Amino acid sequence: MAMYEFRMEPFTDLKQKENIKQYHEGLKVVESYLGEEYPLIINGERVKTGNVYESKNPADHGEVIGYMHQAGEKEAELAMASALDAFETWKKTPAKVRADVLFKAAAILRKRKFEFSALMTKEAGKPYNEADADTAEAIDFLEYYGRQMLELEEVDKKVLSRRNIERNEFKYIPMGVGAVITPWNFPLAIMSGMTTSALVTGNTVLLKPAITTQVIAYKFMEVLEEAGLPKGVVNFIPGDGPEIGEFMVKHPKTAFVSFTGSKAVGQTIYEEAAKIRKGQKWLKRVIAEMGGKDAVIVDESYDPKEAAEILKGSAFGFSGQKCSAASRGIIHESIYDEVLKELQKVTNDLVVGDPSNENTAVGPVTDEKAFNKIAKYIGIGKEEGKLLVGGETDNSKGWFIKPTVFYDVDPQARLMQEEIFGPVLAITKFKTFDEALDIANNTEYGLTGAVLSKNRAHLEEARESFHVGNLYFNRKCTGAIVGYQPFGGFNMSGTDSKAGGPDYLKLFMLGKTVTEQL
Ligand code: NAD
Repeated sequence: MAMYEFRMEPFTDLKQKENIKQYHEGLKVVESYLGEEYPLIINGERVKTGNVYESKNPADHGEVIGYMHQAGEKEAELAMASALDAFETWKKTPAKVRADVLFKAAAILRKRKFEFSALMTKEAGKPYNEADADTAEAIDFLEYYGRQMLELEEVDKKVLSRRNIERNEFKYIPMGVGAVITPWNFPLAIMSGMTTSALVTGNTVLLKPAITTQVIAYKFMEVLEEAGLPKGVVNFIPGDGPEIGEFMVKHPKTAFVSFTGSKAVGQTIYEEAAKIRKGQKWLKRVIAEMGGKDAVIVDESYDPKEAAEILKGSAFGFSGQKCSAASRGIIHESIYDEVLKELQKVTNDLVVGDPSNENTAVGPVTDEKAFNKIAKYIGIGKEEGKLLVGGETDNSKGWFIKPTVFYDVDPQARLMQEEIFGPVLAITKFKTFDEALDIANNTEYGLTGAVLSKNRAHLEEARESFHVGNLYFNRKCTGAIVGYQPFGGFNMSGTDSKAGGPDYLKLFMLGKTVTEQL
């Protein structure tokens, strides 16, 4: 039977009462299993270590989402042995069978969509629309990578044999055991995309999810099991980053590291993976997607009201905790005051609160560490710029930070250079479009960016010179869609792997050419 082509999973229309009702049902399902205990999964076996991490609701410190057993080096070593063993059979499993696990997992996620979204509301603090988009993206990754793998299987048919001389074959083969180290901000989409890209290509995996979103990762492991993934193909070893993460990266049997997270950790991983260790027979490959300091340029041709809406959407969706979130606004001097006025209004209107409530637009930030870091930057902002709106924080019940805008900030200021990863936007003004592009390009990052302009010449100039992996015109700079907008950054934003794009899966494979003389 021919496979239907990839189409993105539609977002849920959350204006419909029926859908809100279903979301509430999803929350009820999640509430029914709050506070349960979750083991590691090594070779399909449930393993308890007694070293337990309490995963808490960032909107309510008092609510435990789950008690997670944490792996130590001993368990990580057992997981490696299991993954090495499973690799011997999984690598020979036909691509069609591997892809089928992804398609089945997508079907299961689709069925349990509201539950998974609700779990992200509870464990990650995602408002309904953000959580729904995360679940949809996870489904997209599964559907897309499954299809990509089937296409790659066909690749040897495109290699020509020389008639009467030789038969040539070119094919992709898996690499071995991958260390998959994931972030908390897209706790389902990025985690599932990174895990399944590694496994659909025939590798086996050690999965270390981010600390604060381990229940979501465990629930996804159950989905993979239900979808028929053989034991040992993904070994679930949640644990401390510097301990377990580094152990996985340094292990001589690790073939590749797939990492998404901060610049600081990505750099360490890149360095550590480059060192050849005793018993290591290959050069490790590193796929690292890191931070951003993303900018939206607004030129004089654009409507200030629309610009303010787009800036708000780019900066404050999921409390600015997206690698793609705008943290810099670069605005032409002739409309600067007007954009600021509108931005103040629309930012003030954002409802901040518990994301379990459907009216909440901005939930909490992920944990105490993030809260303190963002609060520190708000302090810095008060010295480096002028406060337009926000600036208040409240940690009495959850980790809440009001969406905050500073203006008249120097492009070289810390607020304009360093990734804050919270709802803080810094604004500066420009005179000429060249100056705007210079400001946009003057950080060490290069992930996303947007230009709002009705001037075709400006857009074409930006197309050439705005040096980011994902550039958007006349829309917000967040929300890349799998299959349509391959995602990944330049410079210190990472290795430009372009997740959700046609070249991504090849990063997890070796190319093998076989020639037989006739
Ligand atoms: P993080 O770097 O703190 O952690 C990411 C993962 O690395 C976690 O699983 C963590 O436990 C682990 N880790 C921590 N120290 C480690 C070490 N020494 N060795 C190995 N692993 C270690 O990042 P985060 O706070 O989870 O995520 C937010 C960051 O991720 C932001 O900087 C954001 O921009 C970035 N991000 C980038 C993309 C992208 O596609 N470029 C997407 C999402 C998030």
